[in-house]
Amino acid sequence: MSPLIIAGPCAVESQEQVSSIAKKLKELNVDMLRGGAFKPRTSADSFQGLGKEGLDILEQAKSETGLSIVTEIMGIEEIEMVAKTADLLQIGSRNMQNFDLLKKIAQRASDTPILLKRGLAATKKELMGALTYLEAYGHKAEVMICERGIRTFANGYYDRFTLDTSLIASLKKDPTFKHKIIVDPSHPAGRADLVEDLLYAGIAAGADGAMIEVKLDKKAKPLCDANQAITIKQLESMLKKAKEIYTIVNS
Ligand code: PEP
Ligand code: MN
Repeated sequence: MSPLIIAGPCAVESQEQVSSIAKKLKELNVDMLRGGAFKPRTSADSFQGLGKEGLDILEQAKSETGLSIVTEIMGIEEIEMVAKTADLLQIGSRNMQNFDLLKKIAQRASDTPILLKRGLAATKKELMGALTYLEAYGHKAEVMICERGIRTFANGYYDRFTLDTSLIASLKKDPTFKHKIIVDPSHPAGRADLVEDLLYAGIAAGADGAMIEVKLDKKAKPLCDANQAITIKQLESMLKKAKEIYTIVNS
């Protein structure tokens, strides 16, 4: 019994970076490779992602390893282009309520599975509302939900966002809710040393899988979300325990 594991860098930076990470992830039996080519950054002077070049890099890593790709779609103009590369199309937290984007993705990428990330200040009702757009506008493939932490008064003292494990637990208890729930422990942690604990907490609450940001090794200096990136070596040891917790929860 294993949770679905998605791992990879926050942002695609170079072929060497992505291919070397992908090769190691494949050895760890990770299910999918993540990496943002189009990045939603808080500030315009931060690295914005490589765009189309980043998608080509992901395709190359896919052909080298066979790993499926998870990557974010930000703009209506890029739907077809990103959906061609993505095996799982990520709709980021900041776009969860971009209703026009949701409608157009549903219509124009109806056969591509979606990973819908909860808005960073979205209620459960708003998250469910976002799902109705995908359904109503003709999306046919699987949609997974991702809990990635919400804004609370605690943020900034010891975490970046507050991981809402109660949302995961409550959705798992709802017999009418048919979607997979993925926990993202990296963005709520905001720092590498908390990722492990939040991963276990999410799986213990019932998550079906996890999406985790990684870097190749200690020397690597990611251009995006560097503080929360764990090394592949750290990932390896935490995946063993995550699997054990998942087995306990699901047996
Ligand atoms: C990400 O997964 O890299 C990302 C930008 O996530 P979020 O939309 O949850 O901030
Ligand atoms: Mn990130």
